Amino acid sequence: MRRGSSHRVVGGEGHATTWRAAGAPELRGARRYAGAVRHRTLIITNDFPPRQGGIETFVREMATRFPADGVVVYTSRTPGGPDYDRTLPFPVDRADTSVLLPTPQAVRRAQALIARYDCDSVWFGSSVPLGLMAATLRSTTGASRFVATTHGHELWWAGLPGTRQVLRRVARSCDAITYIADYMVDRLAPAVGPGANWVKMSPAVEASVFDEVAAEGPGGPLARQARRRWGLGEGPVVVCAGRLVKRKGQDVVLQAWRRVLARYPEARLLIVGKGPQAASLRELAASLGLGRTVRFTGGLPWESMRLAYAAGSVFVGPSRNRYHGLQVEGLGIVYLEAAACGLPVVVGADGGAPETVRQAETGFVVDPTSPRDVGAAIVALLSDPAMAARMGRAGRAWVREAWGWGERYRTLATLLGRGDELSDAGTSDGGASGSAA
Ligand code: GDP
Repeated sequence: MRRGSSHRVVGGEGHATTWRAAGAPELRGARRYAGAVRHRTLIITNDFPPRQGGIETFVREMATRFPADGVVVYTSRTPGGPDYDRTLPFPVDRADTSVLLPTPQAVRRAQALIARYDCDSVWFGSSVPLGLMAATLRSTTGASRFVATTHGHELWWAGLPGTRQVLRRVARSCDAITYIADYMVDRLAPAVGPGANWVKMSPAVEASVFDEVAAEGPGGPLARQARRRWGLGEGPVVVCAGRLVKRKGQDVVLQAWRRVLARYPEARLLIVGKGPQAASLRELAASLGLGRTVRFTGGLPWESMRLAYAAGSVFVGPSRNRYHGLQVEGLGIVYLEAAACGLPVVVGADGGAPETVRQAETGFVVDPTSPRDVGAAIVALLSDPAMAARMGRAGRAWVREAWGWGERYRTLATLLGRGDELSDAGTSDGGASGSAA
């Protein structure tokens, strides 16, 4: 099997395919294929930039590591999508809907894409419900390897009888189903039962994006720029980044903040992110009398995330489970990003988050429902800068050693039957993310 080197536009009602045309970089895959077999993977996903979030980051990091002529993305419509897609060296096909579901129309579209691009494998960037397409696509197209990735929301699906069946079907119809943390597989695998091939594939972090932040440290030019930008003054800064949803625990950080202020009145809390809790968190900050000691940045473009980390000397993210464990922090990429910047990290003892921190070595794992414990961990780090710096260095070293995207890509490519490409393709831990300003 295989295709020519140029892509054709996939037209059709309600869909638009864009990719970088003029001025596109040389296709990354071309030089890599000395041998006979060429592969192309269709990625089917709702979670794709310019939307923001952990799954989007995950899918982007994988998609950009494939040889550019070895991947096609089928995703949903989102504001700014076509502009973003034009920056990519591979085709992106967007359905005319903001939520892609495994409808007959979507299946037909996936079949057409697999045929058009001669794909031999399919990766479901998020397992349910889109993975329900696997069985039909396997029996009706030339694709023969199917992989689905679980993140965190699958716990919902596993928790309720009807949706559990869906997860089960997806898991059993794919060649592999991946999980992001030991905590997750401990809960998902029993719900799914036998017949599923579970493989660990955690999110990771492109540590090189944060080299400058780590090298400069809290007194460096980036940190000063961040302090000016968000009016953070000269005192210690604690950063908390993530979507503003109850699960992420910004409310507990605010409740803890008075304890920190009692010891460090000059301290500032930088809350990064947007989400449905934005208004109530601001109200909470006001009702607690925290005034200008708390700054909300709103959602930031990805390029500015490193500036937010640069502002801080401690990162805090006490995520907690909700709905009796049906909603948890599956892992938490922000914790890894903060560690990559050399920050000690405080996370909640819940879900997969503790797997991102080595207790008392790279940060602290605390009760995420306890403002007292969260506050105590922050105060402990602020009151011992040498310990905080040591933990930050240890965290950064660990992230660089064990949390690189290159290794994750190797896992995915192997599961997709592309192991023969791996001698040099996409496996370094650098280069795929681009740089952050
Ligand atoms: P999730 O949203 O629950 O998946 O949380 P994670 O911590 O796993 O992943 C969040 C990802 O989104 C990380 O790569 C963050 O850098 C990124 N992120 C979080 N907040 C923002 C923001 O305000 N702007 C942008 N661009 N990215 C953010």
